[in-house]
Amino acid sequence: MKTLNVSVVTPDGPVLDGTYEMVSVRAESGELGILPGHIPLVAPLTISAVRLKNEGQTEHIAVSGGFVEVRPEQVTILAQAAEQPSEIDVDRAKQAKERAEQRLNQTKSEDIDHKRAELALQRAINRIDISE
Ligand code: ATP
Repeated sequence: MKTLNVSVVTPDGPVLDGTYEMVSVRAESGELGILPGHIPLVAPLTISAVRLKNEGQTEHIAVSGGFVEVRPEQVTILAQAAEQPSEIDVDRAKQAKERAEQRLNQTKSEDIDHKRAELALQRAINRIDISE
């Protein structure tokens, strides 16, 4: 079975380096399933889970946006923040979710603070989902 080298990198350093049979990411244009030999591309990612498949097992990584760069044998994900499930502090994410929800109730949808709270809420929900 052909495989892909996958790297997930953040400003704090590498989060994951490994070899996988398939990588699925949620780009802004939609879900992208990447197999070895994929055509080269760069795409912006949503706040979402990256799914890494190998030998019948699936691993998940939480990413807070960023970009995926695909080459035939290499997938590089550059994200502002990325966590493996074991690294996620669920209590922290639940607190971030509550804070964001309170802010969304206090601000107007066109406010910059409202937009920031929406993104914070998405990051928190994504982390809670992936840690489960
Ligand atoms: P918080 O309000 O809790 O800081 P946030 O969504 O604003 O959440 P980010 O700015 O996305 O946090 O991330 C800042 C750093 O903290 C990153 O290194 C990220 O990996 C880490 N981080 C954020 N939330 C969690 C969490 N629940 N568990 C583990 N690491 C986290």
